Amino acid sequence: MGLRRGSRPSQRDDTELNLMGSGVCRSVAVPLALIDSDSIFRGRILRDCMIGDLIIRNGIVVGFEPTENEVQGIVTPRLTEAHCHLDKCHTIDRLVVTGGSLLEAISAQEQDKIHWTAEDIRKRAERGLSELFDAGCRFVRTHVDCRLDPSQPSRMPLAWEILGELAQEWRNRLSLQRAALLPIDDCTDAISTRTLARRIAADKGALGAFILDQSVRSEGIATLVRVAGDIGVPLDFHVDESIGTALDGLCRIAEAVISFDYEGPVLCGHACSLMDVNGDNLKRRLDQVAAAGLSIVSLPASNLLLQSRGNGTPDRRGITRVKELMARGIPVSFGSDNVRDAFAPIGRHDPLHSLYLGILGAQLEQPLAQWISCITLNAQIGVEGSAPLLGGARADDLLFWPVPSASELLSIRPSPRSLVLERG
Ligand SMILES: [Zn+2]
Repeated sequence: MGLRRGSRPSQRDDTELNLMGSGVCRSVAVPLALIDSDSIFRGRILRDCMIGDLIIRNGIVVGFEPTENEVQGIVTPRLTEAHCHLDKCHTIDRLVVTGGSLLEAISAQEQDKIHWTAEDIRKRAERGLSELFDAGCRFVRTHVDCRLDPSQPSRMPLAWEILGELAQEWRNRLSLQRAALLPIDDCTDAISTRTLARRIAADKGALGAFILDQSVRSEGIATLVRVAGDIGVPLDFHVDESIGTALDGLCRIAEAVISFDYEGPVLCGHACSLMDVNGDNLKRRLDQVAAAGLSIVSLPASNLLLQSRGNGTPDRRGITRVKELMARGIPVSFGSDNVRDAFAPIGRHDPLHSLYLGILGAQLEQPLAQWISCITLNAQIGVEGSAPLLGGARADDLLFWPVPSASELLSIRPSPRSLVLERG
């Protein structure tokens, strides 16, 4: 078998006949972070990768054998975009007022919503989806701005409905999941929050909120966590998106998750203010986050742009304590967040680009292939609670990147391809 060389990552229907068969994908590198050390992988180790021939039987990865040939490319799972905003994306060119700080950006984006017709949302979101698919994504979680109306708690905004239609239309290419983004002030009433959560669960979405310094944040977090546990819906928060002040949203989420024994996935975005916690306090917070089983998604593009913003050049970075979280064993991923909207006038729907910014912003060390887990394994744990390693993966869920090293992958940014199998 040797088909589809140079093709885009394809719809499952198109590749099934080829990649459901058996063969060998020769002379590839796989990141060690994506394989089980006791598994079927028996290649040659070179820094943070294993080099060899990938063996496929009946469409499943069953082995990896050594080779002395030069590396032809890197194999990874298809990527996960754990945090973006397809309802807001690609609005920048028509915005009269654009954001400066986070709160100014929120206000500017609100003013744009008069243009959010079904046609407008569909056109912009579909462009974003197409960009994510071309970037190699298998799973995309998009936030959708929502408000909870106590008189009609299951009523969702137009963008939620349009993105639901797109999820259906794109289901053979990628999984699109919607996460409701509510102000935490809306979530203090258990009865209406429960009705909303049932609707979200029926749509296979995630329940989430924006948490900064609102006076009712503890009450709102407790209600969300308790309701999400009862109904069985994943949680997703925008939390502590500020530096220069030690906010406590992340702690309160962890406390509520432990106290209500919530067992579903909890993905916390931003957590910038963790940068203002040090020493024993930091250690305690990291222990708490680990004990609660939270995952963190860092959003370097919007955080580098919006945090510590003033008249001069910023002297602080806005991203969270990526290295300390990772060292504590907490799954950390990187996401695109806002793309060409009031929050970020430039940006890309591309997990590899988010990782590129994350490596620069957090000064992540070489070797670099280990960090690919931040846009595959860790991101998938954040949204689904678990993620498969490469052993036993479906061949049509994998990508071939035609470059010999992670440095070239991140610097040159080649287009991903489907695997090419030869007879074994
Ligand atoms: Zn966001």
